[in-house]
Amino acid sequence: MNSPSTRTVTDLASKIDTGMDALVQQLTELIRHRSISADGNVSKVRETAQHITALLADAGVEAELIDVGDDGRQHAPLVYADHRCADAAPDTPTVLLYAHYDVHPADGWEEAFTPVVDTSSNRLYGRGAADDKAGIVMHLGAIRAFDGTPPVHLKLAWEGEGEAGRGSLEELVRERPDLFQADVVIVADSGNVRPGVPTLTTSLRGLATMDVTVRTLQRPVHSGTCGGPAPDAFTALVRMLATLHAPDGSIAPELLSRHEWQGAEVSEEQFRDDAHILPDVQLTGAGSVAQRLYADPAINVIGLDGIPPVDRARHSVCDRATARLSIRLSPEMSSASETLGKLRQHLESVRPWNVETTIQDRVVSAGYQADVDKKTFQDAESALLGAYSGMSEVAYTGRGGSLPLVAALQEVNPGAVMLVWGCEEPLTDIHGDGENVALPELRNMTLAEATLFDSLRSEPGTGADRVA
Ligand SMILES: [Zn+2]
Repeated sequence: MNSPSTRTVTDLASKIDTGMDALVQQLTELIRHRSISADGNVSKVRETAQHITALLADAGVEAELIDVGDDGRQHAPLVYADHRCADAAPDTPTVLLYAHYDVHPADGWEEAFTPVVDTSSNRLYGRGAADDKAGIVMHLGAIRAFDGTPPVHLKLAWEGEGEAGRGSLEELVRERPDLFQADVVIVADSGNVRPGVPTLTTSLRGLATMDVTVRTLQRPVHSGTCGGPAPDAFTALVRMLATLHAPDGSIAPELLSRHEWQGAEVSEEQFRDDAHILPDVQLTGAGSVAQRLYADPAINVIGLDGIPPVDRARHSVCDRATARLSIRLSPEMSSASETLGKLRQHLESVRPWNVETTIQDRVVSAGYQADVDKKTFQDAESALLGAYSGMSEVAYTGRGGSLPLVAALQEVNPGAVMLVWGCEEPLTDIHGDGENVALPELRNMTLAEATLFDSLRSEPGTGADRVA
């Protein structure tokens, strides 16, 4: 692993330290913008986008607002820029920077949009302080460290619907891949495993849904006159679903495509707390918590049709029942359709009483597994270690949830290195009523990103990565 030259890190560090007050000021301003995408107030979100465009212009980058979504609804625009590096060597890579400027709602947190720095902890409080306005200013700070002329070609894709889950940006990525072509993608919407511990998110689970419908009768019949010999569709469905898990709650071994988790661990105590698990209830599954959370699949029933709620219960035998399963897929991109195929086959094979079944599934997002041996990845590690002085190792972590955008960007840039990092360490309490960002994290992550830009310029060898 090469470490970036001390001089470069020192130069960039002093540049970033000098600009830090201004950067915090810009983040503070951004937090004041109530850019809540979920409440449908697009004009507020659009104002934020315009504000960011002005910040970028001031940093020497000309950005435009691109409309997303063609479903007839109003959408928050994408802040987009294609900023070419003048006089660059022919093999200079293009780095795509992603962050989202919209925020999670803040109902019940009155000070959410009145940002304040707590000087004793050196943390800035406010909705979006970490998720993900820190990502926006971190990119901005890295660009500013080069006075607006960073040594790589940059593309900026800063989204206004990152929290809305509408998938409008993924659609645009697939419709207009030319806008998103890049050699390196940096997604600044994640964070270190702990403050001060430089971390890369190397693993994201995928997401799929499956609707399993069972039919047994032409219509519901009375449970007194027919119950017993008449096969109940709901009972059949439950029996089928029960075979998906082993007695300890892990996925049935024949369905599990296992990928060994090698990153940072998650303590059981921490996880019980995060997941609000009742004191005497056991965790399900086997292996380390991180293995179960980041690398193994998980299946949950998230919707049910065919059976009335209790207060409208009738004495009848159920003729037809449907369950919607949410399936968290193990991170390898290729395994999504294979896993679903196995699952369908399995459900067909355990069908009791020859009941009729129909199964419909959909991959929402493929997973992602970083190839940590690629040189750009190692450059990113060196950049992190340069920024977090005194640390000798970068931790790898995962996310149990999916980032559909990462899968879409990887799809249109199959050879690109995807880096997922940011300022959202666990104490930032994202989406909580005390969301905050640690200012030293913001400083160090900005420095790491700037250092990475610099090392991508100075290393012609990165070309090999880009076509791999
Ligand atoms: Zn986010």
